[in-house]
Amino acid sequence: VLAGPSVLDEAERYRGNVENLIGAVRVPLGLAGPLRVNGRHAHGDYYVPLVTTEGALVASYNRGARVISVAGGCAAALLDEGVGRAPGFAFDTLDECLRFVAWADADAQREVFKREAARTTRHGALRDVRATVEGNHAYLLFDYTTGDAAGQNMVTIATEAVLAYIDAHGPVRPRYRFVEANLSGDKKASARSFIAGRGRRVTAEVVLPAELVRAALHTTPARMADYWRMGAVGAVLGGTIGVQGHYANGLAALYIACGQDAACVAESAVGVTRFEETARGELYAAVTLPNLVVGTVGGGTGLPGQRACLDIMGLAGPGKARALAEVCAALLLAGELSLVGALCANEFARAHQRLARDICRREDKGAADA
Ligand code: NAP
Repeated sequence: VLAGPSVLDEAERYRGNVENLIGAVRVPLGLAGPLRVNGRHAHGDYYVPLVTTEGALVASYNRGARVISVAGGCAAALLDEGVGRAPGFAFDTLDECLRFVAWADADAQREVFKREAARTTRHGALRDVRATVEGNHAYLLFDYTTGDAAGQNMVTIATEAVLAYIDAHGPVRPRYRFVEANLSGDKKASARSFIAGRGRRVTAEVVLPAELVRAALHTTPARMADYWRMGAVGAVLGGTIGVQGHYANGLAALYIACGQDAACVAESAVGVTRFEETARGELYAAVTLPNLVVGTVGGGTGLPGQRACLDIMGLAGPGKARALAEVCAALLLAGELSLVGALCANEFARAHQRLARDICRREDKGAADA
């Protein structure tokens, strides 16, 4: 499939994923691995498909993956999951707004909302509703589990159904309302999602012996911990949400390969990386991503090439989304180790020069010679 027919030969399969289809852009695909994951849901050695035009990216993740595997693998755990939709309601007065919220926020009402949402989906479930009041505006944050789907469509459709019920039965009619009023964090990094989560919350850790750090990353656990401390303060000074090196690199490459919504990298590529030197002189490394939006059904996951990429990892289809989330965390842990290793060994610029620039120069020279 991956080396297979043109997209136009299979145009019918792309209906629902693109409009005005004229072809496909060929973006190169590489594999990073083996990446050994000893997770709650992901177990084994994974070869992770990465799509990119950035020279050195696959090599870097590959190096980190191999280091983790040589150390026996990383632990990984899915901690929570849930996707929000946040409709907004505008009233004439604060009093009207509060009457509406008192009605919508009641336990009994929540059960009715759950029933209405359940009419629209077999795998999604409304698990909570939280209200936020701002003057005469109310936002209701509907929080759903979404099975193995990333879930953005699912929660929109379910919330529309709840809104139809609210339109018919609410105690006060709003002047206007919208199905999403920009509080959910959909496709944007937000402090709320970082703290409360959106999508899947996942963490991974590994302990690397000092000899392995020296042999594979050409540095020491102490120097990597020094870098982490300095980088963490740098992130605070720069005002980033979370503290991490380059989650977006691996995540964007994996998302595009595996049929995830690439725009969700904007929200998903946040979290916390931590490196420490242990009392025994090893390197302790961990990543935690509080709002990773991923799925193994729905969206682009059923397209031929994207499904083939999920298949390489044995993670296509129902029952695999939690494992995919853990593999994402493991991959990003690999990327953090390799990046920081390169910075500590003063190899960062050289690796990019060798793997990206020198190749470009050779091509320029080849073109000139021709
Ligand atoms: P989807 O393809 O719209 O829905 C998932 C479908 O898979 C549902 O029909 C669901 O059935 C079915 N399904 C079968 N087995 C399942 C299982 N084990 N777990 C979960 N679902 C299962 O995908 P989505 O994840 O909801 O939405 C993702 C897409 O939404 C992406 O392409 C993204 O670009 C797009 N998106 C939409 C919005 C929006 O507001 N509409 C916003 C951002 C992104 P049931 O529903 O019956 O369970």
